[in-house]
Order: sequence, then C-alpha cells, then structure tokens
Amino acid sequence: LLVDFVIKGGTIVTPYGRFSGSIAIDEGKIVAIGSESSMPNSDRTIDSSGRFVMSGAIDPHIHLGLGVPFPEDCITETAAAAAGGVTTVGDFFRSLKSYHEVFPDIKRGVEANCIVDMFFSFGIMRRQQIPEIGEYAQKHGVTTFKFYGKYGLELMSYRQQAPPEVVEETDDGLLLDGLVEIARVLGDDGMGCIHAENYELIHTKKEEMKRNGMNDLTAWSDSRPNYCEEEYMAKAIYLSKVAGVRLYNVHMSVGKGVGIVEQAMKEGAKIIAETCPHYLVLNKHMNHLGVRGKISPPLRDVEDVQLLWNGIANGIVKTIGSDHVIVPKETDDIWKAFPGVPGVETLLPIILGEGVRKGRITLERANEVCSRNPALAFGLYPRKGSITVGSDADIVMVDMNEERKISANDLHSKAGWTPYEGLEIKGWPVMTMNKGEIVYEDRQVIGRPGHGRYIPRPIAAQRKDAN
Ligand SMILES: [Zn+2]
Repeated sequence: LLVDFVIKGGTIVTPYGRFSGSIAIDEGKIVAIGSESSMPNSDRTIDSSGRFVMSGAIDPHIHLGLGVPFPEDCITETAAAAAGGVTTVGDFFRSLKSYHEVFPDIKRGVEANCIVDMFFSFGIMRRQQIPEIGEYAQKHGVTTFKFYGKYGLELMSYRQQAPPEVVEETDDGLLLDGLVEIARVLGDDGMGCIHAENYELIHTKKEEMKRNGMNDLTAWSDSRPNYCEEEYMAKAIYLSKVAGVRLYNVHMSVGKGVGIVEQAMKEGAKIIAETCPHYLVLNKHMNHLGVRGKISPPLRDVEDVQLLWNGIANGIVKTIGSDHVIVPKETDDIWKAFPGVPGVETLLPIILGEGVRKGRITLERANEVCSRNPALAFGLYPRKGSITVGSDADIVMVDMNEERKISANDLHSKAGWTPYEGLEIKGWPVMTMNKGEIVYEDRQVIGRPGHGRYIPRPIAAQRKDAN
C-alpha cells in the first residue's frame, strides 16, 4: 500500500488539544492518523519536526471582483490565501440580478482560476432575490446570505451601478423577510449574515463632520460611533429570534459586542460573531494609515481591541474573517476613498503572532477560530476544518519560531500594500496543502490555478422538498 504523503515528526494541533503524530494522505483525503510506525509507505514524506500541523485556515469572508475582474482576482488572491495558510475562502458575492444568472460564470471563474477552494455567500440586495433563496441552496449549494440594511445605500454610493429604487430596498424590512425565508426553507442549514451598522445614525453624524471640515482616519471612525454598531447588532439579534434563524455577525468591531453576543447566546439566540484581524491590531488613532485605514465598520479604540481578544479567548467570538478586498485608494479624501483592506494572507500570521505568541490565546483556540468554527458555521464541516480520517487533506504547517516583519513586498495580493507594513510577527505558516496537493512551501506559492474547487454546502435531505 502506497499513499501520496505522510506528514511525520511534528505536533498535531486540534481545538481539543495537541499530540505527536503522523498523518497519511491519499487522493486528496486524510486516510490515517497515528504513530509514525503505524503509517503506510508514501511517495513523499514531509518532516514536520519542531512544527505544528493543523487543519488549514478557512477565511469565510473575502470580497473578490470589486477592484479587479473576478477571474483575475481568483488567481492572485487565492495565491495570497495559500501563502497565508488559508485552504478555503468564502467570497461574499453581491449582485442586483438574480443569482441564477450570475452563478454559472462565477463558478467557472473559481474552478478555472483558484488555487485553494472557495464557497459563496450571496448578498440579498433586492426583494426579488428572497423567494429564490431555497433554489440558491438546492441548485448552487449556497446556504448563507448577507444583508446590509441601509448601509447598502452608502455601499452603493461608491459606485454608479445601482438604480435608486433598488438601493431603497436594502432596509430592515428586507432583512426580516430574508431571515424568515432562510429559516423556512433551510432551517439551521442556512444562515443570515449581517453588516451591523445603523446607517441612518451614521449619515447624520457624517454630514455634520464633513461640514466641520474634519478629514482624517479618527474622523472616519468618529462619524460611525460604536453605538451605531451595537444598536444594529441588538436589533438584528432580536429579528433573528423572531425569524428563528442562525445569525452571523460579520466583522464585529466593537468591544461591547462581545457582551451583547454573550447575553444573546444565554437567551437562546443562534448568534455567531466574527471579528477581523484589523480590529485586533489596528485602532482609530493610527492616523498615519490615512485612507488605507478606512474600513466599514471603522477601526475602534484601544479598549475595543483588548475586549475583542478577550472575546476570542473566552470562546464568545467564534470566527476570524479578513474582509479582504482590493479597492483603489486613489484619493486622500477620507470621505471619498473606498473602504476596505487586503488581509487574507496575514490573517493566520496575525492570530499566531499577536494572539498565540503574545499569550492572548492558545494554539488550540487559534485552530478553532480559524478553521473548525468557520467550517461549522458555514456548513463545510467535517469535509473542511478538521484533521479527521475522511476529511479533505487541507493542512497548514506552522513554525512558531519563524520571525519576520510583514511587508507588502513579500505578499501575493494584487493590492500591493498592507495596513500591517512593518509589523513583527513570530509564528508563520511554512507549508500549505489543499486537497492533498502542496500549494505553498519554502515561501513559494506552487499551487496551480484551477486546482481549487467550488465547494457547495449540503442541505438535509428532508429540506430538499421543502419548497
Ligand atoms: Zn460588511
């Protein structure tokens, strides 16, 4: 018996603990886990001595095709993912059309160009998309949907594509109707995702600050105060209970959000909170970042950063998503620049360096929030997010002693810049494997575009006839 790979000599890390052991991999799957002597012969042996071996990171929150055409983004940005130890990415795709129209193209784009695997969450931007939710799940394997509330208005204002009658639809009425439909046709196989910012509160504040001539990063943050996010979270959690749906709070930036989520969980809400690396490292006083620090929700204060780390350590904040996006930052005007930062490649290094090496969280917790939990939340588990016999051989090997500074020159994203330039990190991915193929090794991306697959999410058999 000969298998493709045996990874031996290192320490395997799971959310439940760590042990010395070896992993055998064949035809893209994990086929055995055990002692070195119990392993079958292999074509190639990977020595992981002194390293930690974990299930590959899953970044459930990226945005492709905004600054660069989607297929092109698939190549460079999944190369960045591979180099960052990320083996599956979840793209939040937005369209004003029916997703039946756009899905075949984007799926082709993924399977022709991606180096690692990808799944989609669709933005529900129009009423006519709501009755199609059940079919999106059945026909395309998309079970998670994002709602923007009135923030959709602001989002669209950066582009010229949205007819006004369309953006008027992105309100809380659309949110509730969408959540109810997800619960009805998908139950707990589906999930509603929210951008939690009350844009009506922001709009007033923002106009006032503009009039007063303020124009720096702190002003951007102060124009959308913490309460705008906290209020929207509380409302959306309430509506999710009305609908009886699983709710995913993407990019939670406010420290108080941890308490809101903890309380809601105690009261039976099916809430999952995600935060992003930028909210764990950067803050609103870093005015040197200028428009490059402009994100929605915005960077917060130093205490928020601390509270979010505590939330991860305590198991309240369940997942980390990068909200990765390439957008042009062509203007220095904080009000006019596109919001967003690239971050898929630096997600895991930041969790390892700033989280684990700084003693804020354990490596086990890092694996849980970067791999197992996003797999569970998005219906990918146990195919993804687990070192288990039968799971996809999506593996990252990390060297917790490797030390270097983050530099855009070393990164693979087409963005060409990073908000973490110069940040010293101890703890880097050194080898990434996707479905039994090495896609990153010796600081080189060697995965080929087209190796990555589109990953549909399953729905329970009894739901298939539900609509
Ligand atoms: Zn968002």
